[in-house]
Amino acid sequence: MRYAYSQIDNTIHDRDCEALKAIRDKDFRMLADFDVKRPICKQCYRKAIIRSGIGDDTKHINAYVHLFDRLKATVADLKELIIENSARLSAIDIDRVVIKVHDDHWMICFVNNKPLLYHNNYSVLDNYQRLFNVGYHVQNGGGIHSFHNFTRMMLSYSWAEHVEVLKAKALASLQAKLRSRLEGIPNWLRVPRFSFFNTYFTVLDCNHQLGRYLRKNEVPFIAVDKTYEAGSPYRLVTCQIRRWQKSKFMAAVDALKEYTVIAGYHDYADRCEHLFQDLSEHEQISLQQSHASDACSFIPAVKLPTT
Ligand SMILES: [Zn+2]
Repeated sequence: MRYAYSQIDNTIHDRDCEALKAIRDKDFRMLADFDVKRPICKQCYRKAIIRSGIGDDTKHINAYVHLFDRLKATVADLKELIIENSARLSAIDIDRVVIKVHDDHWMICFVNNKPLLYHNNYSVLDNYQRLFNVGYHVQNGGGIHSFHNFTRMMLSYSWAEHVEVLKAKALASLQAKLRSRLEGIPNWLRVPRFSFFNTYFTVLDCNHQLGRYLRKNEVPFIAVDKTYEAGSPYRLVTCQIRRWQKSKFMAAVDALKEYTVIAGYHDYADRCEHLFQDLSEHEQISLQQSHASDACSFIPAVKLPTT
């Protein structure tokens, strides 16, 4: 038995409550678990709630009560933590207690007479699951060191939200790497075709965005040739532009690079590197000639009619 009540008034008491002595045997009823639906005894409510969190560690109940008194824990915070969120208390000592909330273990520990909140150590696996390790780290969060604040931190902690932050950081770091790589790799090749007014470039387009960026940068162009790779978001487009539009054209193809970073085409840098850097000069010339003359593509390609 952990709790008891009188069937006259139904009020629930902790099993150590003095008020139980006044209940006649025939009205006395025992309970194993705290029952939130019953009226509560003001004298023992606090102890009754703490008892609900300690499982079989009943011989230390007074030590738990004493520690939460020292922490100036309110009944409202204890109730929210233990009754409403099923927190479990353990490892009580003169100046510390361990509190398990959902999947996480927390430890409140007095250091130099000041309470500190600690959180269990863990490693993050590749799939963003956590592997809990031995020990704790301080989780102060810069707030006031009160039990009320600790309760808020324990209850608001969400691993799922942490994972979102970690994923966003990983993506930002990948994008930064791709940007700096793409800075050093051209996504175009100049086509050696003689003209007084025009110049020609072969660009690795992605998801049909090249035209959009050329228009946005106010570069009049004619797509004289397009080569598609089956099932790929990429295609080679040879553009004819006016010679004096070259700097605007470069701004447009740079914007296309940034598009591939943001839109998640993370192999674009690899493709550009292969097409425009790794090929020998001889291969580049033959690429340009074959591409410019509509003969074939140097990659397995489906040639569509130029529109
Ligand atoms: Zn009572």
